[in-house]
Amino acid sequence: MQGVGFRPFVYALASDLKLTGEIRNDTKGVRIFLNATEEILSHFVERLQNELPPLASIHHIEVTQVLPKEFEGFFIVSSDQSGEHTAGIPPDTATCAVCKKELFDSSNRRYRYPFITCTHCGPRYSIIYDLPYDRPNTSMRFFAMCDECRREYADPLDRRYHAQPIGCWECGPVLSLWDKNEALSVKREALLDVASQFLLDGKILAVKGVGGYHLMCDATNEEAVGRLRERKRRPHKPFAVMVNDMKTARLLAQVSDQEEALLLSKERPIVLLQAKSDAHRHISMDAVAPGLDRIGLFLPYTPLHLLLLEGTDRPLVATSANMTDEPLCTTCESLGKLAGVYDYVLDHDRKIVNGCDDSVVTAVEGQTVVLRRARGYAPASVKLPFRLPQKVLSMGANQKNTVAIGFDDTVILSPHIGDLDGIASVTYYEKNIETLRRIYNFTPEVIVHDQHPGYESTKLAKQNREKLPLREIQHHHAHILGVMAEKGIEGKVFGVAFDGTGYGEDGALWGGEFLVCDYEGFERAAHLKYFKLLGGEKAIKEPRRVALSLLFECFGDKALEMKTPSVQAFSRNELHTAYTMWQKGLNAPLSSSMGRLFDAVASLVGVCQMMSFEGQSGMLLEMLYDPNIEGSYPFEYKDGAVDIAPMIKTILEEQDIKTAVTKFFHTIVEMIATVYSDYQHLPLVLSGGVFQNRVLLSLMLKRFPKAMIPNDFPPNDGGIALGQAVYRG
Ligand code: ZN
Ligand code: ZN
Ligand code: FE
Repeated sequence: MQGVGFRPFVYALASDLKLTGEIRNDTKGVRIFLNATEEILSHFVERLQNELPPLASIHHIEVTQVLPKEFEGFFIVSSDQSGEHTAGIPPDTATCAVCKKELFDSSNRRYRYPFITCTHCGPRYSIIYDLPYDRPNTSMRFFAMCDECRREYADPLDRRYHAQPIGCWECGPVLSLWDKNEALSVKREALLDVASQFLLDGKILAVKGVGGYHLMCDATNEEAVGRLRERKRRPHKPFAVMVNDMKTARLLAQVSDQEEALLLSKERPIVLLQAKSDAHRHISMDAVAPGLDRIGLFLPYTPLHLLLLEGTDRPLVATSANMTDEPLCTTCESLGKLAGVYDYVLDHDRKIVNGCDDSVVTAVEGQTVVLRRARGYAPASVKLPFRLPQKVLSMGANQKNTVAIGFDDTVILSPHIGDLDGIASVTYYEKNIETLRRIYNFTPEVIVHDQHPGYESTKLAKQNREKLPLREIQHHHAHILGVMAEKGIEGKVFGVAFDGTGYGEDGALWGGEFLVCDYEGFERAAHLKYFKLLGGEKAIKEPRRVALSLLFECFGDKALEMKTPSVQAFSRNELHTAYTMWQKGLNAPLSSSMGRLFDAVASLVGVCQMMSFEGQSGMLLEMLYDPNIEGSYPFEYKDGAVDIAPMIKTILEEQDIKTAVTKFFHTIVEMIATVYSDYQHLPLVLSGGVFQNRVLLSLMLKRFPKAMIPNDFPPNDGGIALGQAVYRG
């Protein structure tokens, strides 16, 4: 990995051991030449491994003797740009402790400088145009270093030696503060005080961060957060909150040791946590996460954020600045579309080359699950236990898209790109593919895409100008292969892929799938029995439609007279139209989706009839789970189909919502256990967006401790590109 302070570390180590030689970076890694005896050499290698700088890690060391050459001292030789680019791109890293100390040290020349960085921290991926990672290949090339910065940069014993993004008040990037039209004339030293005061006054600020802009406001101010919701047309979906330190995090949420480690990690992801029941005393929970008992928190990861949090001394809502269905804003121009949302812009002049959203993680039963893999982690590389036969580009799915490139025994996954709805998203998607190809100097030999003919990713694969051969893979098969690639599994597995929907081989919308599979292919061992999705796409946002369809399935036209909340959520007219649609199969595609079954249950127990954001029904069900309730509902399993009609009928008779929901979760676990019982000789692999549900995941891990789940890559469609890359069918 480049840009992690490895060369100066080796320089210092060699100097310490009084060794002569040289070190050079090339596009494949690092090469060190030493004049040393075998004994000293082994001592050197030992210290090399034990005293690594914080961001560095060694994948592989090879030691060989070469033709003798005498060196006069120890030298760092500049980068060699030729050849294939297999060295990793370093991810963006949170401000380190030493830089943070300097930031608040009034005697330091970078006191309160909002872009302080060193060899061990700061932006990387988001500012890179090309490899090798050297200043002229980053957006820091527009800033000429002052004499003092240049001295630090050139001194191998300085902690800023070859730290590409360094700058200072004299020479580096500068902040500016704008209203909707023009820059405010505020002295640079006072600029953050003014911005902080705006936040304290309840204003909404667009703030340029590492991989994009955030919309920020005071999380304790119900009116301000409410205004942000109204302007962003986002009524319920929870907002992430940035808190200054662990003490504040603990006021708002229960934080385990594992979760604390995640919050403090150099990746600084958003961590989803159990909110404390009195969290509302410290922030406006009703506005930040209405009706929910979980909250996403993260700690400041740039000097700019540290200064803002210090200046306001309170938790701040920090949500990605984008329009619905559009990518994250990375330029001032694209931010223009949000002019109706923010009051001021806190901007700076360091260009964001590669957009990168905040990452989101959670911890379940001691395991980490990455829900959105982006800043801090991306681009991520996976080492496979085998070599790929061809250089592959995989296009991902349609929602929460990521793309990947694969060569040799490596797959490199892009950061989270987003949903491919709308022209702006598709353009951003194509740009991400271009970026991976350019930085890694990569030309694919084959393109892999999802079977869904309507996905933008499929359409683009088919349009490829180079006329490269295509390979298509079934959606749920890719979900399971993603986990196999992450864990390095070979041979056959029993995969349970539960998600919203994915295109099935028979044209139906699959999503409750039990697959026996390997890298070559799969056999559909079982699936949730098909039901009709009333209204097709519309059903995805309306749990009541799925519930109604299941009621028709169980009771026919008698369902029309039922008093359950799902039926009551429709007018008489709507009910009769829906019944005709169901009977005749008009605009009612067949589906085996487990995600939709969760929706249906949320509707049947009366907690969610219409969804305002994806995953809402699942979150509401999680809150109703009661670990003290036992038992499950009946279902039928025959001829490879799991029929849940007996469960639906029993749920309707249940008096208590918590009992109904808890037993529903248990039923899903029983269902998996029943189908798996015929395949116990195979490893159990779980994936798909439904396994983001922490109650289900935790029950499964308790019942099947050896079950493999995606940890480093999302169980949702963000993990599809990885699975596609390793497909050999
Ligand atoms: Zn630092
Ligand atoms: Zn400087
Ligand atoms: Fe999926």
